[in-house]
Amino acid sequence: MMIRTCVGCGAKRKKDELIRIVKPNGLKIDLKQREPGRAVYLCPKLKCLKIALKRKAITRGLKTPIKEKEKELLINFFEENYGN
Ligand SMILES: [Zn+2]
Repeated sequence: MMIRTCVGCGAKRKKDELIRIVKPNGLKIDLKQREPGRAVYLCPKLKCLKIALKRKAITRGLKTPIKEKEKELLINFFEENYGN
């Protein structure tokens, strides 16, 4: 069983219970968890995304800066799907 850590709240959960974010060429929400390369994981909770952004944990985890547009994309996606 693959266990990964949420870069927001720090919870350890099964990989398929987390949202995988990768940035091969531009940031991508990898729902099928198949994209190669460095990835970070988040609980499906808006709260966790917000903590992660505040702590710059996604930038650190991916070892690459996130553009303002990419940040918006993430926020919109989490608000729409995991807003509460
Ligand atoms: Zn979390």
